[in-house]
Amino acid sequence: MIMKQPNPKNIALLGSTGSIGENCLRVVKDHPTHFRIRYLSAHSNSRRLAEQTRIFKPRAVIITDREKWKQDRNLFDNPASVLSGDEGLLTIFEDPEVDLVVNAIVGGAGVFPTYHALRAGKAVALANKESLVVAGQLIMQMVKEKKLTLLPIDSEHSAIFQCLMGEAPEQVQRIILTASGGPFRSFTPAQLKTVTPEQALAHPTWNMGTKITIDSATLLNKGLEIIEAYWLYGIPLDRIRVVIHPQSIIHSMVEFVDGSVKAQLGYPDMRIPIQFALTFPRRLPLEIASLDFKQLRSLTFEEPDLQKFPCLAIAREAMTRGGSYPAVMNAANEAAVARFVKGEIRFTAIPELIEKTLQAHQPIQKFTLEQILEKHRWAMDYAAKIKIK
Ligand code: NAD
Ligand code: MG
Repeated sequence: MIMKQPNPKNIALLGSTGSIGENCLRVVKDHPTHFRIRYLSAHSNSRRLAEQTRIFKPRAVIITDREKWKQDRNLFDNPASVLSGDEGLLTIFEDPEVDLVVNAIVGGAGVFPTYHALRAGKAVALANKESLVVAGQLIMQMVKEKKLTLLPIDSEHSAIFQCLMGEAPEQVQRIILTASGGPFRSFTPAQLKTVTPEQALAHPTWNMGTKITIDSATLLNKGLEIIEAYWLYGIPLDRIRVVIHPQSIIHSMVEFVDGSVKAQLGYPDMRIPIQFALTFPRRLPLEIASLDFKQLRSLTFEEPDLQKFPCLAIAREAMTRGGSYPAVMNAANEAAVARFVKGEIRFTAIPELIEKTLQAHQPIQKFTLEQILEKHRWAMDYAAKIKIK
């Protein structure tokens, strides 16, 4: 008997020129009968986008930065198929042939596309954790009401998702998010004051884009992930714990009411969670080394140091306050990270800028997308201008 191949899944990949975007394209390239790229988007790296277009032959591409779009659309073999801005994104969500939107955009810029892709009824695979940090309330309400599919790409959340398969949500006791601890885990507070962007960008276990690499060094990334887990899995904040696990082999764990703990393990390679989001509920082979337990020898765990890494506590506190606090925290961080990378502020000024912006903001509890994006823009702007030593 000849088994008929299912039709390939049609994918719109947003942020295709980034670290997650490129890894997603590697997965697609390895399984051409299962996946087909219909759309790609990038913000400014139009040269790379044009190369990807020649390889994957999407129906259209989007350059979200309008100036870049004006300058560079002629780099493409078919300039008419190069769309721009938010309207470009909305066009692709209306295409009935798109089966899955992969959101690999970095930062608050990813919120609008997540919201509108879901609104159009699309299944979304989410790398952009900021979507849930900024607008978790709106996004999860829509997912629940319309019974939509929202799949995590973040490695910790993919791990939790896999541990929860076949389990009853009310039998979960705790979620244990693992964190590598970043490059400054064993630095003293005095050393932290003088770290350079180059040092912060040298992550010990993961190779990622600039913003998330700095967020991993401040541990704010883990704070964003607590909030992401809260929205995705509906677990109260005090039952989401963080443990430092420098080897990044256990990607997270779930403890159940009977004391049983499930974990998901693997080498730190984002192709694993990306591919799982693309193939769910099935799996496909991936060319990757098997875990070598002889070489690993030991997996170690420590408590995070909240004095040295205040961003983790700031994020938890922002989520406890709820409403616009997490969005403002996230935006202030985005601005602070950009300033640190430019050499304008010290590493230890990042939490200071976030706190000052949170204190200055006019909080709201319930909001529309436009209202929360307005808070996001206000906080980016405010944190970009705060004078700091
Ligand atoms: P990156 O900086 O490598 O790539 C970002 C992508 O977003 C690029 O394609 C860029 O063109 C696009 N982009 C940037 N600014 C934009 C804007 N204003 N509007 C539209 N598009 C824009 O980032 P990354 O490391 O791939 O991370 C992407 C997302 O995935 C982030 O939310 C990050 O937290 C999350 N994530 C990344 C990793 C990782 O391994 N890199 C792991 C887990 C989660
Ligand atoms: Mg992660």
